Amino acid sequence: MSFADLGLSDKVLKAVAAAGYTEPTPIQANAIPHVLARRDVLGIAQTGTGKTAAFTLPMLTMLETGRARARMPRTLILEPTRELAAQVVENFERYGTNHKLNVALIIGGVSFADQDAKLMRGTDVLIATPGRLLDHFERGKLLLTGVELLVIDEADRMLDMGFIPDIERIVKMVPFTRQTLFFSATMPPEIERLADMFLSNPQRVEVSRPASAATTIEQKLVATSSEAAAKRDTLRKLIRAADELKNGIIFCNRKRDVALLQRSLAKHGFSVAALHGDMDQRARMQALDGFRSGEVPLLVASDVAARGLDIPAVSHVFNFDIPHHAEDYVHRIGRTGRAGRAGHAFTLVGRGDERSLSAIENLIGQPIPWLDGDLASLSVGEGDADEGRTRRRGGRKESDQKEARAEGGRRVRGRRPRSEEEQSAEAKAPPEPRAEAPRRSAERAPNERPRENRRPDHRRDDDGDTPLGLGEHVPAFLMRPVTIKKG
Ligand code: AMP
Repeated sequence: MSFADLGLSDKVLKAVAAAGYTEPTPIQANAIPHVLARRDVLGIAQTGTGKTAAFTLPMLTMLETGRARARMPRTLILEPTRELAAQVVENFERYGTNHKLNVALIIGGVSFADQDAKLMRGTDVLIATPGRLLDHFERGKLLLTGVELLVIDEADRMLDMGFIPDIERIVKMVPFTRQTLFFSATMPPEIERLADMFLSNPQRVEVSRPASAATTIEQKLVATSSEAAAKRDTLRKLIRAADELKNGIIFCNRKRDVALLQRSLAKHGFSVAALHGDMDQRARMQALDGFRSGEVPLLVASDVAARGLDIPAVSHVFNFDIPHHAEDYVHRIGRTGRAGRAGHAFTLVGRGDERSLSAIENLIGQPIPWLDGDLASLSVGEGDADEGRTRRRGGRKESDQKEARAEGGRRVRGRRPRSEEEQSAEAKAPPEPRAEAPRRSAERAPNERPRENRRPDHRRDDDGDTPLGLGEHVPAFLMRPVTIKKG
């Protein structure tokens, strides 16, 4: 099958040839004819499969007729993160070189004024994260009644990030008669429900998941002390010893650890950038550009910030923290070994990580081999120190543990620079409960309206572990007993 068989316009075919693509990927071959036939499409595929071109190429063909009107975009693409949204813009630039279309990017972290001006000029393609889109809508700067085609991309990630209520609101604002393309890497029941609700008689197109495609990735576990400074030391040794390391992404579970680890590695002479949701847009793009161009060969990142990034040919992935969710492991290591290239994925494992590890091994259906011995091979000194602390912590009452967590939280927000010991004590505190993550739409009471004035891009575009308000710390004055005098 060639691109010419799919029904794409000449302008698009020229751009595809210029991009050097000779054959459509399976998701492109299966989805593009249905998109051009104006069918709704349910695409079960993830980044790395060529899914972005599966919707951008037919959209470009379709947009060749018709004109945009001020404030009324003709098509709308919703993305969960700013980076993914920016990547879709890049796709339109690459494949749309022969077109004169207005493409607007509406994401948080940048000024409203430029975005307003773009919307005023009339937009053929509006690419947005849900929070900022709603902000524009609420400011009266945008009308969605002219949207002919809606793309909801990375739907399962939208669910993880608590964006579904926003998506439901947005879908209600676009015409019922629109065409909808809905993409998700996985189809949990909540996503099936949404697909049923948003799509009308869709064509289902499914391509294989990376769990089965990752055969070119050499995976290794590396036993480490769980103590933060020792863990960083293990990572440095691993990076220095890694064979054929061209470039690598180092994943942490928490955004504050991303910044900490990046500074530590830089101090030890590594050329390294950081990517997490608290960085402003310019800093994120700068970090990504440096990494993509090869100028900065290492990138420390959190899951949300790195999800779906199109970074070709990453030679190594290091899991500084083992992910809490097994699926994240598959996504992380999927950054390497792409398009049949060899890849290497190393995961640091300390005591206390056993449960996460077995969930991962269950998901991928195979044990991951250890590099130079398992946890039992850790040196006596490290193991003992670790054990001692673990035992002490394990022996505490739950209320004590809570206090320790609150203390950790206070320290993070305090002004005094933290010593290495304090940092490692914090790293050893039990993970903050996932229950603090934004609620999913299914958990919202039926009559509860989504909060209108929130800033989802800022609040939720990351791992969600930043305490809101006072976090778990309750000031002493609030705890004083109150005596109510009888009248
Ligand atoms: P995506 O899944 O959209 O993130 O795309 C993954 C990568 O595949 C991107 O670098 C695209 O430029 C590339 N790509 C998309 N379609 C094709 C194709 N038909 N042939 C070769 N590479 C492609």
